[in-house]
Amino acid sequence: MSDHVDLAGHIDLAGLAAGAVPPAVLERLRGARHVLAVSHENPDADTLGAVLGICLIAEALGARATAISTDPIPPLYHFLPGMDRFLRDPDPAEAYDLLVLADCGSAERVGAVAARNPDLFRDLPRVIVDHHASNSDGTDWDWIDPGSAATCEMVALLAVRLGVTLDLADGALADALMAGIVMDTATFAHPNATPRTLAVSAALVEAGAPLSDISRRLYRTKPDAQLRLFGRVLDRLATSGDRLVIWSTLLAADFADTGSIPAHSEGIIDLLAQSETAEVSMLLKEQEDGTTRLSVRTKPGGVDATVLTGTWGGGGHARAAGATVPLPLAAAVPEVCAIAGRLAAEVVR
Ligand code: 5GP
Ligand code: MN
Repeated sequence: MSDHVDLAGHIDLAGLAAGAVPPAVLERLRGARHVLAVSHENPDADTLGAVLGICLIAEALGARATAISTDPIPPLYHFLPGMDRFLRDPDPAEAYDLLVLADCGSAERVGAVAARNPDLFRDLPRVIVDHHASNSDGTDWDWIDPGSAATCEMVALLAVRLGVTLDLADGALADALMAGIVMDTATFAHPNATPRTLAVSAALVEAGAPLSDISRRLYRTKPDAQLRLFGRVLDRLATSGDRLVIWSTLLAADFADTGSIPAHSEGIIDLLAQSETAEVSMLLKEQEDGTTRLSVRTKPGGVDATVLTGTWGGGGHARAAGATVPLPLAAAVPEVCAIAGRLAAEVVR
């Protein structure tokens, strides 16, 4: 970082981007005629912002671009420009020549769209742009940077490296990328926010991104039904005897009972993670198919959350990770808590 700061404190974003983006990724993006950019399932602002950013960059370079999310865009993100261009599936009449997976910690994270379009997902040249430490899919054509707070931070550097100005598309690029960074850093509150994250964010604000408004919309605005859902889950809070593990459950019936939708569960885990004592905070969500979705947050310097979620083939980051546990909720709770309890007990403070 210090190599890219002058005596007046100005940060050389072009220099940062030059050192960060692999040449092979630039080559594939420059050569593409029609990019198929895909988010992860149950999308959040980082994957959506990164996909949209890649589409806008590809278009600025003269290519065509299609944005895909296998799941509908949650209402929380509808305020962002460009969300209406996401499709559930590629158009079979189009000839795509590059697949870009954005913010997908593993290829399966694209969700059911891959099974519905097996030829495209198998045959297209592929570039992964991702920041999950647990991602092991990387090849020379991919860019996986666990030091990046958000995939959107990487896409901003990609834009700079490709000579695309950050105020592109009437500010839509800067808005989308800012939203992803705000999402994944909780507005620069998480330890993943680095000097580079802040430098990129300063450039996005300079390009017109309404940082404060985005943060309020993503983190401090909720439908009343969602607040009622939070109340239910908080009411069911449980802790281990040593108070090092805290957890709660989200039942399928909670949605109907409170008038909320599955996307409203976003943010509950971050409330649980405010526990003073817990090394490991967990939310276990009952799924219609008899499995359980697990969300995990851990304290800095403590349990690696991906070790816990890795037990069931999940992943994520050291402080925030998730998995699908192949057990119904009632059976998943004791199994998950037992492993979390062992890991928490190993932490030396
Ligand atoms: P969350 O608890 O917010 O759903 O997820 C926390 C982090 O873990 C996110 O960065 C997310 O991408 C990652 N993650 C969540 N579930 C899974 C999963 O099933 N597999 C993998 N590889 N990563 C996951
Ligand atoms: Mn992300």
